[in-house]
Amino acid sequence: MTTKTKKHHFDTRAIHAGQEPEPITGAVMTPIFATSTFKQKSPGKHTGFEYARTQNPTRLAFEKCIADLEGGTNAFAYSSGLAAGATVLELLKSGSHLVAVDDMYGGSWRLFEAVRKRSANLQVSYINPDLPETIDSKISDETKMIWIETPSNPLLKITDLTQIAKIAKTRNIITVVDNTFCSPYIQRPLENGIDVVIHSVTKYINGHSDMVGGIVVTKNPEIAEALEFLQNAVGSILDPFSCFLALRGVKTLPLRMHQHCSNAEKIAHWLDQHPKVEKVIYPGLNSHPQHKIATTQMNGFYGAMISVYLKTDMAGVRRALEKLSVFTLAESLGGVESLIGHPVTMSHGSIPKERRTNLNISDNLIRLSVGVESADDLLEDLNQSFEEI
Ligand SMILES: *Cc1c(COP(=O)(O)O)cnc(C)c1O
Repeated sequence: MTTKTKKHHFDTRAIHAGQEPEPITGAVMTPIFATSTFKQKSPGKHTGFEYARTQNPTRLAFEKCIADLEGGTNAFAYSSGLAAGATVLELLKSGSHLVAVDDMYGGSWRLFEAVRKRSANLQVSYINPDLPETIDSKISDETKMIWIETPSNPLLKITDLTQIAKIAKTRNIITVVDNTFCSPYIQRPLENGIDVVIHSVTKYINGHSDMVGGIVVTKNPEIAEALEFLQNAVGSILDPFSCFLALRGVKTLPLRMHQHCSNAEKIAHWLDQHPKVEKVIYPGLNSHPQHKIATTQMNGFYGAMISVYLKTDMAGVRRALEKLSVFTLAESLGGVESLIGHPVTMSHGSIPKERRTNLNISDNLIRLSVGVESADDLLEDLNQSFEEI
């Protein structure tokens, strides 16, 4: 099925890749295989499914679908985006050096700094994607992995994926891209020469804010073999019910991404003119320092995440956020409903104040995950809440 559907367009593959009607009943939708084990006909003679940590048909369908959409050969689903990232780090030997972008999901930063530094003697250096010419200087003979998030969280910095892949290839470094903010519809890093793609499935891939999951995709046979071993050996797999939800969610990914991105473009331009707004960060604005790179590597879209510095203090931000009625004040992103986050008190609370200040993650910064509601209603909601500033 995977090879057969390769010819089809993304929209078709989002619905069919990795899925065949269930052979016994003809059920069109892949069932939830709620079983921990599978009968063997004779010792060692099984159907390809032995024990549900190792293989599960619902999970396999979801994994094949995302592998196909990302242009990979193999995918491995995990119980969360962080479990996916943690398993990818297990590709490294203890004491390895990792180079990562300085602006990234707070939980990934915490995983490096508060867990793997202690348990695996991980060495980490950070690069600023705004200064691509300095990237080379952070890489040494000890560097075994480069970890990119683009657009990054929360400042939406863009990293040139082709440049990173080129730097890494000559030195045998594994490149990893957290592609959560884009989804495979907008950006497919494997096509830029990146080795490993990670998603928090919780966000755009599932898209309905009703499960937590992660997935890792590659087309490098050695990495695929190592990840297959690690998924089973470490064991933080995605359960069949969540796989079913995510497989259902991804069918509408192209439709959702069109509406997400067109809403976000309207809102970003509106915010850019607003007198209470100090600065808008959105890769689709000409003012974004890496707007040109975004245009080349994001398939003509710019995502639906917008970061905004308001002309006010913590108290003003609080008043405005309390007044919202269509946007929901909540952690997370990528669902059909619009969310608004306050990085300092929410997603980036685990980062010490000094580091936050150095990175410009300040009290007056808010982050919008633009949903698929009517853009007019979203604009009106922001407008009335900004009157509180
Ligand atoms: C949410 C998120 C994660 C972590 O995923 P979970 O599913 O919450 O564990 C990692 N990276 C990015 C960019 C995210 O937004």
